[in-house]
Amino acid sequence: MEKLGLNQEGYCGERIDIAQAMERLIGFAERDGWTLESIPVREGHVFHGLKRLQGNGASSRSIYISTGIHGDEPAGPRALLHLFENRLWPEGMDLYVCPCLNPIGFRLNRRENVDGHDLNRDYRNPSTTETQVHLDWMSRQPSFDLAICLHEDWESTGFYLYELQGDGVLSLAATIIEEVRKVCPIDSASEIEGMPASNGVIHPVKIPLQRPEWPEAFYIFTEKTHISYTLESPSDFPLDTRVEALVNGVLGALSSLASSS
Ligand SMILES: [Zn+2]
Repeated sequence: MEKLGLNQEGYCGERIDIAQAMERLIGFAERDGWTLESIPVREGHVFHGLKRLQGNGASSRSIYISTGIHGDEPAGPRALLHLFENRLWPEGMDLYVCPCLNPIGFRLNRRENVDGHDLNRDYRNPSTTETQVHLDWMSRQPSFDLAICLHEDWESTGFYLYELQGDGVLSLAATIIEEVRKVCPIDSASEIEGMPASNGVIHPVKIPLQRPEWPEAFYIFTEKTHISYTLESPSDFPLDTRVEALVNGVLGALSSLASSS
């Protein structure tokens, strides 16, 4: 499978109608009994937090999944829409889903919000309304056994992921990579985004305090979970391929978590 060669200085591929995608996704979620909390953020942006509580006591698993924080990365919201539409969520888990954190960015086809802020650098000392509303919602949720953030990389030659893993916590990375490999090339470079990588897996600085600007994953790893994955699909490949890659990555992570004790 080859890159399309569309991306020049940024994402130039297929775009999505984010309002329509969210309307459909919420419709499927409500059809299946999910709870929806919607909070107005600013004109053209309503925050949506979805929950489905199916855990059964001590053995239950709780998982957080978010996407759409970068408006030039359409495969994330499309992947969640696919999971909802086709009822692919595993049973018996508590699921917390934020399906699009930057809808205005999608209308502008750009990474940042309407004011030019990269929301995924705003989680240490939040200055944007978008991040503040998201963190307020997060503060009312319990901690999670696993967190997954769905992203895309316009320059990448293949799929890769960032793993933030507490000491002694079982890694799910190998399963995620093998599930994604079935549908999408993996970036096998020994260095990705300036960091050492192995078989498509990057371990960023584990001590978030060393970084002045926190992405969402650093906040989650610091406050909410002992293991988090940021999945990056290569956005110069066809959109359907990237959606499949992210869907397989999420389902691989969930099944791997469910089978671990
Ligand atoms: Zn991103």
